[in-house]
Amino acid sequence: MPTYSFPDARRVVIETITGLRKPATEYVHLEDAAGRVLGEAVHADRDYPPVARSIRDGFAVRAADVPGWLRVIGEVRAGDRFEGEVGPGECVEIMTGAPMPVGADAVVMVEYTRREGDRMVTERGPAPGEFVNPQGSEAREGQTMLEPGKRLRFPDIAMLATYGMTHVRVYKRPEVAILSTGDEVVPVEAGAQDNQVRNSNAWALAAQVRSAGGIPKMLPIAPDRPEATLRLMKQGLESDLLLLSGGVSAGKYDYVEPVLAELGATFLFDRALIQPGQPVVFGLADGKPFFGLPGNPASTMVCFHIFARAAVELLAGQVTAELPMPRAKLTAPFTHKTGLTRFLPARLSADGSEVSHIPWQGSSDVPAIAKGNAFLVADPDTPRYEAGDLIPVILYT
Ligand code: AMP
Ligand code: MG
Repeated sequence: MPTYSFPDARRVVIETITGLRKPATEYVHLEDAAGRVLGEAVHADRDYPPVARSIRDGFAVRAADVPGWLRVIGEVRAGDRFEGEVGPGECVEIMTGAPMPVGADAVVMVEYTRREGDRMVTERGPAPGEFVNPQGSEAREGQTMLEPGKRLRFPDIAMLATYGMTHVRVYKRPEVAILSTGDEVVPVEAGAQDNQVRNSNAWALAAQVRSAGGIPKMLPIAPDRPEATLRLMKQGLESDLLLLSGGVSAGKYDYVEPVLAELGATFLFDRALIQPGQPVVFGLADGKPFFGLPGNPASTMVCFHIFARAAVELLAGQVTAELPMPRAKLTAPFTHKTGLTRFLPARLSADGSEVSHIPWQGSSDVPAIAKGNAFLVADPDTPRYEAGDLIPVILYT
């Protein structure tokens, strides 16, 4: 089986999941639409703006008549309509958002005018169309304004509201089964002995799944025994995606891969050139995608974020999986061993310009990760970074 670099492994995930069936859709109220993935094309219900409108407070004029003195024949406010017509030598006082009166073709800003009774003078000579938003200049009636597969953010919500859509069709959220493995792993509510660890991975994963647009389904913890693992895996494969935590290393009791093989799984990779998370597994079983995430908490978090999140987003109907990696300036130099892409806990400054590496004890050190707000991404071919170098970061989401 090939061992992929980080970008190649991610590409394999995206290509594999993109080939799977699109999810079903459901109708939700506008109130619940933010963050959901659009399941229909959205069209403008009329021209926008529906009539030519002023985009300044001032005077609607005939451009050819100014500079000079004009007679003010009335006023038009936003929400009103001017019933008359602007003839030669005339103008109408107009407010931002108000429809242009017939006959006028430009607006002179109030700041450049002087009024004396029913007369107004300006030294400006606007071009026709100045400060006028023409009818249909933002959208034409029937025009497709949003395509399905887009995650709805606040400007999209504004569009839906503008077009009079109280409800919108969105893709159903995929159900994501979370199956932790390990004899030492106990439920969070259990009293943990010194030789046991509480199941923090399942809860971190559930939070990550939600943020990616999925519905987490927590399964009972699988002990390191093939029969129990098999039974719970089968249950997990009833969901749209199965996330396994632990049991994918080379240890004597790491049963995840052999049990998946017993289920007839196709493995697309079982290692990636990354750290943490090198033994990460991805494949399909019963037509369903699964990830075997190494159990060390940092490995689980990182592998979810860089690989499984894309799967959840695509299964949620998104056309594009997103992983923004803006660059920030390192505040201090650091070195790392080449050959692997490294994801290290870091703190990005509030303005996003600078990033500091947070020292840690390795992939079990959740407190160090929690001190940060991002992973910095060290390139496999760059052994040393200097202070001031730009380095990509992945913000926790
Ligand atoms: P594994 O990948 O199964 O070899 O586990 C690697 C390390 O991660 C071990 O120290 C485990 O105790 C720890 N670990 C495994 N599963 C979990 C879990 N669900 N929550 C927290 N830590 C875990
Ligand atoms: Mg284990």
